[in-house]
Amino acid sequence: MTTGDEADRRLLPGCPRCSEQVSLGGTDGTVACPVHGPVPALWRAAAPSYDAFGVHLLAADGFPTYVPWPLTAGWRVSDFAYVAGPRGARATMTCCSGTSELDGPVDLVVVTEEPATGLGARLAGLDADPGPEVGHGPSAARVRLDGHPVALWPVSTSAADPDFDRSVVVGEAHGRWLWLVLRPASAMLLLGEDPLLRDVAGDGPALVELEFGGPAPAW
Ligand SMILES: [Zn+2]
Repeated sequence: MTTGDEADRRLLPGCPRCSEQVSLGGTDGTVACPVHGPVPALWRAAAPSYDAFGVHLLAADGFPTYVPWPLTAGWRVSDFAYVAGPRGARATMTCCSGTSELDGPVDLVVVTEEPATGLGARLAGLDADPGPEVGHGPSAARVRLDGHPVALWPVSTSAADPDFDRSVVVGEAHGRWLWLVLRPASAMLLLGEDPLLRDVAGDGPALVELEFGGPAPAW
């Protein structure tokens, strides 16, 4: 029998690219997806809690996990996950949720990933990694990351699910894709000027000041 505390810490396996049920693969960290075959495992919190976040950070093993900082009062971490394969962690995501006067309930998803992982595209509702739009033309937003500005370019989502109301911007940081997905799309304005993303990978118990709570978005 699982105690409540253990259930709170659980991370559930999945496919980075889709929501199909996976079967646990060999000892190399992969899972078998009926659509995508053997893929690095996605590990997503069963429920967003401080304890599960501790398990996530430990398992992500130093791979960055970014959270908007400081988190606006009343906002909470509503979801998080990491992807790891034979060569260790290759992606993380967090979702912070709150309300704004103009937009009502808002979700802000941050993904950092090695190219071709597929997690950011999935959260954005797209089929593939960004293309040449990144780095061309004017950027749509900037964030500050590790003391440096990172430019983010808009990614068109009009060819994807038209009912999925979101804004997607993507850039590159440390040789990885950095995705921000805001829902609803109008919440893009909330980003304001150069918001700070903090890598909390090494923060451990200091994160007690973050609030955790669902509901997690569906994806
Ligand atoms: Zn899959």
